[in-house]
Amino acid sequence: MEKFIVVGAGLSGATIARLLAEDGNDVTVFDKRATLGGNAYDYVDKNGITVQPYGPHIFHTEYKDVFEFLSRFTEWRDYEHRVLANVKGRLVPVPFNLTSLEKCFPAARADRIRKILEQEVGEGKSASILTLTDHENPEIRSFAEFVYKNIYYKYTKKQWGLSPESLGGTVMERVPVSVSYDDRYFTDAYQCMPSEGFSAMVNNILRHPRIKLRLKADAKKLLSLSDGVIFYKNKPFRGTLIYTGRIEELFDYKFGQLPYRTLKFKIKTKNTASYQPAAVVNYTASKPYTRVSEFTKFACEQKDKTVIMREYPKKCGTKDMPYYPIPTEENLALYGKYADEAKNYKNLYLLGRLAKYEYINMDVAVRRAFELYENIE
Ligand SMILES: Cc1cc2nc3c(=O)[nH]c(=O)nc-3n(C[C@H](O)[C@H](O)[C@H](O)COP(=O)(O)OP(=O)(O)OC[C@H]3O[C@@H](n4cnc5c(N)ncnc54)[C@H](O)[C@@H]3O)c2cc1C
Repeated sequence: MEKFIVVGAGLSGATIARLLAEDGNDVTVFDKRATLGGNAYDYVDKNGITVQPYGPHIFHTEYKDVFEFLSRFTEWRDYEHRVLANVKGRLVPVPFNLTSLEKCFPAARADRIRKILEQEVGEGKSASILTLTDHENPEIRSFAEFVYKNIYYKYTKKQWGLSPESLGGTVMERVPVSVSYDDRYFTDAYQCMPSEGFSAMVNNILRHPRIKLRLKADAKKLLSLSDGVIFYKNKPFRGTLIYTGRIEELFDYKFGQLPYRTLKFKIKTKNTASYQPAAVVNYTASKPYTRVSEFTKFACEQKDKTVIMREYPKKCGTKDMPYYPIPTEENLALYGKYADEAKNYKNLYLLGRLAKYEYINMDVAVRRAFELYENIE
């Protein structure tokens, strides 16, 4: 009889399974998919190009312990991510920085705004776009309104199907304006890509004699929950269940479906070594897609062909893949009902982006698994 069941072989599930196995526990890991790594799954196509079919994933973290843990399972390739936004045909770095400022404004005005930003925000520092649109200095306010309107507003509406205001602060608070010429998308201490890809890394995490993998296996078909008791194969389960799938699915959608944003991806091979000047180009307003990613640039693969992916955000239907939780007050309240219900099951632990209904980066997924491991009874 299984002592630990982990549902999901993404980064959350793989990390917790590994920690438990190294502690001498037998762990069974289920995943519906035939592949490992959850949404970070990648494969090498017939031209030798690494493709990430669930969207571009870049590893970056400030957590030394996360970096060290993952380094046991992969070697790394240096990679610093850069993104350009196509604003009315001009390509400018995002997050919006001093180079973007100089590309969008006449020289004298750009110089004046730069000086005020350096004074008010600080040279080399960042401020959220929300702080700047509320700033007491009118020159900063009008600059911030330009950035908000042209770079973020329409992009956010396209991405979420909602105006930034209805997203309740959290999304826009994360959008910075940088008072520097540093055009890297992330400023974290560790920025790199696993040399053999994310799936190979997760495969190594899960390769342990105490871990039993069950792929193409929907755990929900074997699990049911009732009156504080978890049933596994129709018998009460006395072990520990760690669940990284959709929380509503676990509770048979009893309070309804949690809304998500989904993405339709269009992947194309192009007969050219380079398609665009950066790994990612955002289309803030002009196209139905939000961004174009070029995979050879993430992997620093020099080929005579390249692979691009266009992303079309849309409302998530019942058959679509749930990508981004939509953190409105109403949705979070609905999530709260499920989270309260989960508290009735003492041997159930929720982990990861779907079970917690929260956008998390990969490093946070690993960190949360560390925290759970410390607290598991
Ligand atoms: C488009 C996009 C781009 C992203 N880019 C980045 C990035 O650049 N950098 C970064 O750090 N993070 C990025 N992320 C976030 C990253 O994908 C998450 O941090 C990561 O997926 C979290 O891992 P997880 O294990 O919690 O969830 P997932 O990766 O979703 O894994 C959950 C797994 O559970 C399985 N599962 C669910 N239900 C069941 C069931 N009933 N039975 C069996 N198996 C089940 C699923 O099949 C899945 O494999 C991105 C996310 C998206 C959507």
